[in-house]
Amino acid sequence: MGILDEDIARVREATDIVGLISERLALKRVGRRFVGLCPFHTEKTPSFSVNADLGLYHCFSCQESGDAITFVRKLDGLDFVEAVERLASRAGIQLRYDSAAAGKDRQRRERLTAAVQEAVDFYHRLLLEDPRGGRARGYLRSRGFDGDAARRFVLGWAPEGFDLLSRHLYDRKFSRDDIAAAGLAFVNRAQKAQDFFRSRLMFPIFDRAGVPVGFGARTLDGDGPKYKNTAETALYHKSRLLYGLNWAKAEVGARDEVVICEGYTDVMGFALAGVPNAVATCGTALADEHVQILKAFTRHVILAYDADAAGQNAAEKWYQWEQRFDIEVKVAALPPGRDPGDLWREDPTALVKAVEGASRFMQFKVDRVLAAADLASPEGRARAAEELVPVLREHPNELVREQYIQTAAGTLGFDHVWFKQAIARRPPRSSASGRDRGAEDPEEWSARPPVRPMPVDGREEDVLRWAIHDPALVADWLDASFFADPVAHGAFEVLAAHHDFHEALEASEGPVRALLERLAVEEPEADAEPETIRARLIVNTVVPAAERLQRRLVAEGDDRAMQVQPQLDAVRSAAASGWAAGEAPAMQLVRWISEWT
Ligand SMILES: [Zn+2]
Repeated sequence: MGILDEDIARVREATDIVGLISERLALKRVGRRFVGLCPFHTEKTPSFSVNADLGLYHCFSCQESGDAITFVRKLDGLDFVEAVERLASRAGIQLRYDSAAAGKDRQRRERLTAAVQEAVDFYHRLLLEDPRGGRARGYLRSRGFDGDAARRFVLGWAPEGFDLLSRHLYDRKFSRDDIAAAGLAFVNRAQKAQDFFRSRLMFPIFDRAGVPVGFGARTLDGDGPKYKNTAETALYHKSRLLYGLNWAKAEVGARDEVVICEGYTDVMGFALAGVPNAVATCGTALADEHVQILKAFTRHVILAYDADAAGQNAAEKWYQWEQRFDIEVKVAALPPGRDPGDLWREDPTALVKAVEGASRFMQFKVDRVLAAADLASPEGRARAAEELVPVLREHPNELVREQYIQTAAGTLGFDHVWFKQAIARRPPRSSASGRDRGAEDPEEWSARPPVRPMPVDGREEDVLRWAIHDPALVADWLDASFFADPVAHGAFEVLAAHHDFHEALEASEGPVRALLERLAVEEPEADAEPETIRARLIVNTVVPAAERLQRRLVAEGDDRAMQVQPQLDAVRSAAASGWAAGEAPAMQLVRWISEWT
């Protein structure tokens, strides 16, 4: 829908840029220019300068610049057409569009907007002045919201009755179809408009420019869903709407930070507690489009969800957004089980502090695990380490992960290599599906003993080292199934599949490649005859493998578990008199394991 170029030029000429900008910030004349504090970044000394003659502004600090149209676009988050329309109405200019259809569409949107505005006023009056709004006023008071709060957020009450709003709008000359198209009513079987919201506390939802587009509505009776929102209309697009952004955007820009909370009363609570830069989604989960909209205002996002909800929130979604939209996500440290809509009046400073003390998503999740752990006992620390592995694994950036690993390892008194190997055991999840720990590979979790601080056996590395440096020693007996560690397992598989070590290296990636590269430079010490080394490798590899097999058979209730023990005893006692003596019984075990796994 294009506005005629001629009209755009007229709007530019008719707009006094100093007057326009002065509505938003204080400008001081300095010579022929006007200067003030830049609205696009936070500053204490003015570097924002306006040239009235040219109709342009420029910030010497953050380099934002433009004309009246860009100013309105950027500050109010409007698109070009919306910005021109805003300035045109300010200057009293009637715009012409280059297609009749576009003009008609615009007129229709204006009618729908007017209908929603009328509904906002209707509901608001009922809440503030009408006896029918008494119950809603009582409810709001019980939550600590007084008349000023109701006025500030233009709250309303949708009365009982089938068509009170619709009849009110008919009186104001709105057509049945427009009332329905604005999402305020639906047409019933008798072809009459029937109000969409009845007997509900109304939270009007405005677009970021402050135009009313729909409602979120809360029941006070427990009838139907607790919250109900306007259905998608020509005006109301839930995936692009953020409740409160119209009020918060100036503060979001000034503080260079946005707080995202879960509900309408949370936004109100934050604002009343002195955190006016909070917004909420409107009855939907935060989506790509929301993040994209917020990114136009700030790159710093603070989630103020209930601590449990935030903890369960698929963190990887946030890590992806951080990367994709180049934003920084933190989680506010709200007291568990408390929502901002209630906390604000009992302890408003707690809300301010929760935002100030927000930590990065990964830190938040790590802290939660550590806070719940018993760090005084070895068992508690081991459990915490196990629980941290999936948390740490979620972060897609290796350098970031590495730093959290170092800190966690230090706190728990573990070697950070353990974490790295435990994390490498399965690659970082790349899908967006939010599987939680309990849902991932139950087999592997139950197959592992509950406490296992050093799962990677040095013996597995040793045999791999020999497999690289002297493959003949292992060629006729070593099998991938002897490796418990997935990385070591993968490394052996790739070695076995290639004749040449360099080919194997080229065919590998990630932690497997890293392990191969390291072992390649760690030449094993030939401290004995090749036959002795070979026997030692067989015994050292097959004994732990047989122990794992035995545990598995026991767990599965398989009687063959009984047969493993005497064989293991035989290997151990034979090897006690020299590695070479252990070779024969160990080879017997090699055959069993190969058969049974
Ligand atoms: Zn600036």
